[in-house]
Parts: sequence; C-alpha cells; structure tokens
Amino acid sequence: MTAASSVRHGPKAELEGCVARHARAPLTGAWELDWLPVYAPLDPARIMESTCHRCRVVSYEYLLIGGAFAIRRTDATLGTPKLHETPRVRRKLADQWWAALVSGAAH
Ligand SMILES: [Zn+2]
Repeated sequence: MTAASSVRHGPKAELEGCVARHARAPLTGAWELDWLPVYAPLDPARIMESTCHRCRVVSYEYLLIGGAFAIRRTDATLGTPKLHETPRVRRKLADQWWAALVSGAAH
C-alpha cells in the first residue's frame, strides 16, 4: 500500500518537512471525541483542514461530506491505516471539535 508507506517513516519523513500543522498532544483531562470506524469506499469529501501526516502516525482531516461536517482520524501506527470519523454534524459543532482537537483539549 503506497498510502501506508508514505506515512510510516516518521523520523525520515520529518526531515522532508511537514505538510500541515500538528495536533497538540492531548492535555491532562482531554475528552475523547466519538470515533466511529470507517470503511472503504469512502464517501466523497472535501478536505477543509488537515494535520501533518508526514511525521505523525495519527493525523486528522476536517471534512465536508454531503453538506455535513466531520473529522476523520487516520492512525497508521500498525502499518495499514485505520480510519475513524466523528458523527456528521453542523459546522458550528464540528468547528468546536476541530479546535479542541488541534489544541489538545480533545483527542
Ligand atoms: Zn509534521
């Protein structure tokens, strides 16, 4: 899987530069978003924002999917990326989730 190999080599990839911001490590007491497993084929989505997938094995995308908003988590810790998404909600709530995620208030 080329997608997997492109995100797995953390220390080496880090030298090539980051492709986006990093989500902060969860702070003490961070709450957990409701992560639901996602399977291919993925629904068409527009990526509004994303975090770096080059030097982090867990990355996030803020998505617009069919008029609703969700956050997708890609975890490549064990090689083949595992995908999870939050429930699809209105933008106001998704904005709050995204802000909490990248600031470390949620994970
Ligand atoms: Zn990075």
